[in-house]
Amino acid sequence: MAGEPQDDCLFCKIVAGEIPATVVRETDTTLAFRDINPQAPTHVLVIPKAHHADAATLAAEAPELAADVLRETRAVAEEEKLDSYRTIFNTGSGAGQTVFHAHAHVLGGRGLQWPPG
Ligand code: C5P
Repeated sequence: MAGEPQDDCLFCKIVAGEIPATVVRETDTTLAFRDINPQAPTHVLVIPKAHHADAATLAAEAPELAADVLRETRAVAEEEKLDSYRTIFNTGSGAGQTVFHAHAHVLGGRGLQWPPG
């Protein structure tokens, strides 16, 4: 069923506390933690606690939860004192998605090139 935890999902395991993560923010519906392989001085992932495979699925299945995630990207940027930053949802393996639990990357603290690779 949509939103149910998946046994084989890394981020569901982080939500459950079964895999450690450096959590920077938590709400009833979301978790924000530092990326284990940071690509910028600030690199935080914001995830819905409920399992949705990617941003497109999240937007279709739970739009209010998608809004919670987006709201939290702003809160992370404020806490990290980022006046410029990039929010990325890799959607599908061809776009670089490797973990199939929706997540927003919040990247900042350095100059960012456009377009991304
Ligand atoms: O968008 P993509 O699916 O590639 O992003 C997954 C991200 O999850 C990667 O940036 C990876 O470094 C991160 N990750 C993490 N902690 C883990 C496993 C992966 O922060 N335990």
